[in-house]
Amino acid sequence: MKNKHISCLTVAGSDSSGGAGIQADLKTFMALNVYGASVITAITAQNTKEVAVAKSCSWKIIQAQLNAVLSDLNVKSIKIGMLANASITQNIANYFQKNNKYKIILDPVIYSKSNFCLLKRNAIQTLKNKLIPCAFLITPNKKELEALLEEKIADNITDSDLNEKLKKIKCPNILVKGGHFHKNKTIVIDKLFIKNQLIKISSKRHNQNYTHGTGCSLSSAISANISLNNDLTSAVKKAISFVNQGILNGIKIGDGINPINHNYKNQ
Ligand code: PLP
Repeated sequence: MKNKHISCLTVAGSDSSGGAGIQADLKTFMALNVYGASVITAITAQNTKEVAVAKSCSWKIIQAQLNAVLSDLNVKSIKIGMLANASITQNIANYFQKNNKYKIILDPVIYSKSNFCLLKRNAIQTLKNKLIPCAFLITPNKKELEALLEEKIADNITDSDLNEKLKKIKCPNILVKGGHFHKNKTIVIDKLFIKNQLIKISSKRHNQNYTHGTGCSLSSAISANISLNNDLTSAVKKAISFVNQGILNGIKIGDGINPINHNYKNQ
């Protein structure tokens, strides 16, 4: 019998406008030639301008989706995104404490680009203390890092001070995304901390009107690249380049913050 194809799973929220969340993750998996499966944790009604409503799913249906996918498909790496509240976050943590053979790439989603709160405040401690220790890599932006550390981070923080602060977060690998640091500079520096080693990845800063779903697409691209047997550093470097090109070729679909173009290679 033929071996099963590798699949990548996203556990995240649905974005009705298709730019972020589950939809961005599945487009990313497809663009990177990995079969994509999804477990929906919440449904949002949104467009490029705003998130109008977010409704979380029950644990019963989330768990049923997880069981259905993981009992059949050949999954190596899982991307986790929007979790909406403390009870979903706790249940997901319990689930992956028991099922710990997957490389989890966790995007600690807290706010949308339009500033809508996608994770209840009281869930942040659960995320930090229960779910993050199950992850292989977390990918916070500046605001998410500040929420996890419960303090402001200065744009000009030194690498060693940042490394020291990251010790409060129990994850072996942390990618601190640079997009929200030094916003008026033309270069973005993403910092990948692998235990005590730091790898800096510089990219050109492009038009900020095409950044809806960049965090989702980045974490799912890393998960896809890990599934394709890349080591962590090359998985991250390739994913950053994918998102960077996606922003450069961004598509205007609405009047607000528009999505990246996941399909730029075919155009
Ligand atoms: N997940 C969902 C379902 C969302 O709707 C959003 C933003 O709207 C995000 C995650 C985070 O998006 P971004 O990748 O722009 O940080």
